[in-house]
Amino acid sequence: LNLDRLKQREAAVRLIRASRRIAILAHVSPDGDTVGSALALAQGLRQLGKVAQVYSADPLPTNLAFLPGYGEIQVGGSLPPDLDLVVLVDASDMARFGAAYAEAIDRRAGVRVLNVDHHATNRHFGDANMVDTTAAATGEQIHWLLTALNVAIDARIATQLLTAIVTDTRSFRTPSTTPRSLALATQLFEAGAPLNLIVESVYRSRSLTTLRLWGLALERLRCVDGIAWTEVTVEMQQKVGADPSEGDGVIDLIASLHRIEAAALFKETSDGIKVSLRSTDGFDVAAVASRFGGGGHPRAAGCLLSGDLAAAEREVLEYMAQRTAVR
Ligand code: 5GP
Ligand code: MN
Repeated sequence: LNLDRLKQREAAVRLIRASRRIAILAHVSPDGDTVGSALALAQGLRQLGKVAQVYSADPLPTNLAFLPGYGEIQVGGSLPPDLDLVVLVDASDMARFGAAYAEAIDRRAGVRVLNVDHHATNRHFGDANMVDTTAAATGEQIHWLLTALNVAIDARIATQLLTAIVTDTRSFRTPSTTPRSLALATQLFEAGAPLNLIVESVYRSRSLTTLRLWGLALERLRCVDGIAWTEVTVEMQQKVGADPSEGDGVIDLIASLHRIEAAALFKETSDGIKVSLRSTDGFDVAAVASRFGGGGHPRAAGCLLSGDLAAAEREVLEYMAQRTAVR
């Protein structure tokens, strides 16, 4: 453990100890890591007698409805006036928590900000920044934090944290998975987290419209010089009656194509073109996403482009092609 990381962790513990009313924010397009981590932290802080509430700018994925505390999350609710601390989990910049929350936090001089995240592109925007890029999930960091605060890891917290780890490692398949992730997962399983329920809920939950949308996206799959890509348009969503978030899983499907260096998914949304990137060893997609104002991990990253689909595809794919060429 390096000294900087130790100091960051101590600062995080101090900030929490000194706070009583705490808001915890999940990032936009919420996933199992941000939701599981936020709920576990809220649960643990309440054990310590603090007032803690989870907020999400975006609607929550329904396949996480089995999580203890899921129903208590405030979707789009405004932050209470008398906050001491806001904890932002699992995202590299403030904008990833939604413009409304980012602005609300900026306006409040008295509120302290704790940033808990594992992305290499993290901008250290908090008063304390607990950023650990060796953590496979933010859930691992939350476990460390709760343990340092002497919170008992009960079955609820174990379920929330194991969900964070299982989802962010895609069931321990990502290269970010470490012996520590597996050891912690074992510990959480032993503490009462229902691994089978988690896996069934997360992975056997696709609707007919989702799979039909994926079918349309797969029909348009192209692959040139080791880069595979496809798109999900509003028209495709309308054709099968799917909502925008149902296209998200397509990226992990196309990333399973053999002998590719990188995969890209371009999705039309009301905010612009959402780009999801994945890669194999040696191709840094976080750098590609950063170039277009986004971020993420070296092997999984994303960004949002304004303008039309064709232009976004041209720009991003051209930039990616240059990066393969110089390697
Ligand atoms: P996904 O493609 O699954 O949406 O995201 C992959 C990874 O990149 C996740 O770790 C996610 O947090 C990060 N990411 C996706 N989109 C953005 C973005 O617009 N900005 C930043 N900073 N990170 C992103
Ligand atoms: Mn994460």
